[in-house]
Amino acid sequence: MNGVGSTWRPDGPVRYRRDGINRLVGVMPATCKQGLHALHVVGYTARETTSEHGSQELLAITCAACVSANLSGATWYLVRTQPRPELAELDDEPYRDIEPQLMERPVTR
Ligand SMILES: [Zn+2]
Repeated sequence: MNGVGSTWRPDGPVRYRRDGINRLVGVMPATCKQGLHALHVVGYTARETTSEHGSQELLAITCAACVSANLSGATWYLVRTQPRPELAELDDEPYRDIEPQLMERPVTR
């Protein structure tokens, strides 16, 4: 049963991969949820949290530039499905399905 206010849902699962020596790597989106900023450029905070009722382990990734600009939706909420990875990296590729408004990468003129 879902109560009032339970319509919130995370953006999807954290993507993981194994590196060449089988270490678990947590992959985070390289672009903020608004599709405006490259997180490695503007800065971001990543923290572990849980959903409202503690039913889901979440990774919250907040865009520093969106926060500065007071934009809503500055934070990705991704569900952690693996133990804490040994490494983390930023990559948009595994998130194509949940980044529908991802901006085109800047074109060098
Ligand atoms: Zn942003």
